Amino acid sequence: MSELHFDVVGADGPKAYFERLTRETISHAYLFTGPPGVGKKTFARRLAQSLLCEKRESGVLGYDGTCASCRLFASSDAARHPDFLEHTGVLKIGDSDAAMGFYEGEELTARDLVRQLSMQSYSGGLRVLLLGDIDFATHHAANALLKFFEEPPRGVILLLTTSTPGRLLVTIRSRLIELRFSSLSQAQVRGILRESGYEDDRADLGAALGGGSVTRAIAALADDEESLRGQVAQWFFTVIGGTSPETGWATRETLGDGLEVLKSLVRDWMALAAVGADAPLIAVDYAHDLRELPALAADDALAMLAKLDDAQRLARTNVSPQMVSELVRMALTGAALTRSRETRSSRR
Ligand SMILES: [Zn+2]
Repeated sequence: MSELHFDVVGADGPKAYFERLTRETISHAYLFTGPPGVGKKTFARRLAQSLLCEKRESGVLGYDGTCASCRLFASSDAARHPDFLEHTGVLKIGDSDAAMGFYEGEELTARDLVRQLSMQSYSGGLRVLLLGDIDFATHHAANALLKFFEEPPRGVILLLTTSTPGRLLVTIRSRLIELRFSSLSQAQVRGILRESGYEDDRADLGAALGGGSVTRAIAALADDEESLRGQVAQWFFTVIGGTSPETGWATRETLGDGLEVLKSLVRDWMALAAVGADAPLIAVDYAHDLRELPALAADDALAMLAKLDDAQRLARTNVSPQMVSELVRMALTGAALTRSRETRSSRR
């Protein structure tokens, strides 16, 4: 028999709870609560995968990861598993009865929900419905759920997740078995970020800023990238303008991303010179500043981009970030000075 596993970080309480259950004793409706970004939906998906795994013989948690059912969960389109339906995102269940599938559109209607709750399993086993961050806005929606609770159809398991359980109607909340998910540790967030492809430095930073939530960590990293971009752009325009920037931007953490920002600015600058003011730009938010720059000769542009490529190679070595940034500054001003040496006297 293949080995079963359950790869979810954290969630010790819910894990311990489900480990005590069997397919006979599992309830038909659960509510996972806890802060955003601590893995409630991930846990729900893995639980669904466990319940539908063809290699599972007893118990509730764990899947082999290789059977036909598991392969559907492994694909990027997990929600296409015929016995697993997921609707995530903040959504309201409206009372509109417009014809609409489970996946289409923002709104899941009460009618859709009733239909989904009453359908038979394709494989003759269980059916699992995951409703993430759902908001039951209307009586229609609430009634659909209450009907389900009165006569739960055999083999259907409903999983709800929310970070604001207080917004659920009491009549609904009281019918659900509520399991609380706590914040993750910094090390757990770091591990999840690394596994999602973040470099070690970024994962460390995200974990430090995330306060135990992967969602918050990723948002903080995005904000940070945004502000790095602003810093680098300001540095770029100061350098091209012929003055010496007061603050640098290059650190071991920011060097790679910062050089990418510079490359996109040089490419835009080059496009403006080649195509004119209507050139499609990447840095649309800096279009005004870019158009103010003097025309860039194609040779100079290519030389700058080549120097930036060199700098990216250096960035992967032990050369200090300040040194790399200084080489870039010289490359940018060198070209600028060649181009406008008659008019510009500043050397820095
Ligand atoms: Zn399986």
